[in-house]
This record gives sequence, C-alpha cells and structure tokens, in this order.
Amino acid sequence: MKQLKIMVVASAAGTVAATVFAGLYGDTPDAKHAWAVHDNNRPQPPIVRAEPGKPPSDAIVLFDGTSLDQWCADNGEPTKWVMNDGAMECVRGSGYIRTKEAFGDCQLHVEWAAPAKVEGGGQGRGNSGVFLMGQHEVQVLDGWDNPTYPDGMIASVYAENPPLVNASSKPGEWQTYDIIFHQPVWEGDVMKFPGSVTVLHNGVLAQDHWEIEGLSTHCQRRPITKYGEKGHLKFQDHGNPVRFRNVWIREIPSRFANTTHGGPGVKEADVMALRKATAAKLFEKIDLKSNNKVDTLRKMLEVISYDKDPKYMQVTEEFGAAFMDKIAKHDKAKLEELKGEIMGVRNDCNVLIRNNVFSPENRMKAELQKIIDENKWK
Ligand code: MG
Repeated sequence: MKQLKIMVVASAAGTVAATVFAGLYGDTPDAKHAWAVHDNNRPQPPIVRAEPGKPPSDAIVLFDGTSLDQWCADNGEPTKWVMNDGAMECVRGSGYIRTKEAFGDCQLHVEWAAPAKVEGGGQGRGNSGVFLMGQHEVQVLDGWDNPTYPDGMIASVYAENPPLVNASSKPGEWQTYDIIFHQPVWEGDVMKFPGSVTVLHNGVLAQDHWEIEGLSTHCQRRPITKYGEKGHLKFQDHGNPVRFRNVWIREIPSRFANTTHGGPGVKEADVMALRKATAAKLFEKIDLKSNNKVDTLRKMLEVISYDKDPKYMQVTEEFGAAFMDKIAKHDKAKLEELKGEIMGVRNDCNVLIRNNVFSPENRMKAELQKIIDENKWK
C-alpha cells in the first residue's frame, strides 16, 4: 500500500517517473535520524535465506548431530559429554560443555530434551542450563508436572525472572529455545544498559526482553560486573542426562552499535556526518547541465533535506528561480501540461517546510500553491 502511494506520487510528477526519483515523501533527516522516513537511499539489509526448521544461511551451526568439534570442557580440555543418536548428552560429573568460539550479542537456537525416564523432582529433575556468554542462565529443567521455585523453573532467567508461561513438553520430547540476547553495555565503569534476554520456548514467548539484573548464581543476587565483549556459550552439567541438538547462533549487532538512526546509541555528530556524506554522494550524481531542469531541481531539494550547506542552497535557489521563470512564461493550457511537475515541486516544498528546512513563507511554495489554487488542481 505504501509502495503504491510512492508510485502514484512518481507518476503524478510526469517525467520524474522515468528517472525513478519519486520526490521527497516522508519526514526528512533530523538530529537523531540520518535517513528520512521511507528513505530509498537508506542501505538495504543483507539478504538471508531461511527455511523453517533449518538454520538461516548466515547462522554458525554449532552442533548438527555429527560432531562435537566445536565444543570442549569448561577448562578447554576435550569434553566428556557424549554423542548419542544425533544429540549431545550430559554425562554426570563431567562439568559444563562450552563452545570453543566466543560470542557476544546473539540470536541462539537450541533444541533440548529432558530425560524420558523421570527421576527426582524440582531442581533435581532434567536440570541443565543455557549460559549466555557463560554468565546468564536460561534454565533448562523438566517443566512437566514438576513444581519448583518459579524463578528457577523451565525457561526462567535463573534466580531472576520466571517465564511468562510454562510451555513445557513432556519428558523425553524435544523442545526449542529461541533466544535473543544483548549483553550489558559499559561506558568506562558506568553501565549504560544491563543487557537483555528474550526467550521463545517452543515458539511461545517466555522471556520478553528481560533486562538482566546480575550474574547467574544460586541463592544470591550477584551484581553484573564487566566480563568482556565475547564469552563462550555453555551448557550446564547439573547431574542429569539432558540432551541437546540443532544448536545454531547468529551474532547480531549491539543495539548501541547504531549511532545514526534513533535508538539508545544515537550520536548527533555521527548523524550529521552521515547526512553530509549522503548529500555529497547525491550531489555528485546530479548532472547540473541536464536539460531536465525540474528533475535537477527536485534532486537538489532532496540534497538539502540532508544538508543545508550554503553551496547546495545556492544551487537549489538557482534551479528554483529558473523553474519559476519557465512557468511564468506559460499560458493556462501549457501550465496544465506541467501540472505534474508543479504539483511535485510543491509537494517537495511542503515536506521541507514541515521539517523546517524551508521557512513556512517559502516563496517558491507560495507561488506554486497560487497556481494550483487558481487552476483548482487536486
Ligand atoms: Mg540449571
């Protein structure tokens, strides 16, 4: 629907449609946003191929059932966990298993199963854990008819937050955790963000962007301390033969890595630098000698929406004056032919006025509006 609107604007602008340039449309860049709303100059995200039930094309597959090559014991020695029927299985007393590689902020997919043979109760039944960066435990526990303290039950952030719901499968059945994790962010010794955990358990939201309170431990509230920007993913040995399979991870950017478009990490200096760079890039592509003067004018109006550099304002002023001179020479019939151009430039002016790039008294807008009103154009 939105796309359709852009196309309509483009075709209303007549010759402009041929160049794909649709004119100014959404609100322009500002001090916190280097891109306009609906900005086609904004870079496209990378393409990822994804099929349901399979790791996405950009995922790092950590365990596919064929090898434990990417895993070791917590001390770096070979792990004593075993491979069984395409799964890795905890062996009591062997200690945590961890990835050899270390990761930061991530999307993580884990499938796991509590033992089919039900033994013990509470924390003693089907207990393991997914330790993000080796520090924050998303609890793995048999959650089927197995009451325990809620902040230590299945899909809890251990010792902090119970899951929103208990979406547990039966003992022995495979379950999924899809986890989105952001680590704490520090500026010097000041913590700017404590980190967060989101968990989908069997596809059901269990942790909704829980802001982390501490380092996982038993019984105590242990404040977050700096632990480095990368950490190993660990699975816990809690004495139960819990199995894992289909483990993959995608590293994701920190929410603070974006300094140019809204969000908590935005920096005005970075925004302005990118706006200037974009304006320069667009300006460089403009053929100032082109015969399509209105196209050039509209491209200049776009340039100044990023950067009101006096040089750009001057060029815009010149092309605007030339456009107005051209219109002034036309009779009503010829003006009708230029309706698309006139409406297009007026629309661009409106966006620039709305965003304080032009003053509300902008002369070009006033004159174009007068023509539009006189001809009762809609
Ligand atoms: Mg545990």
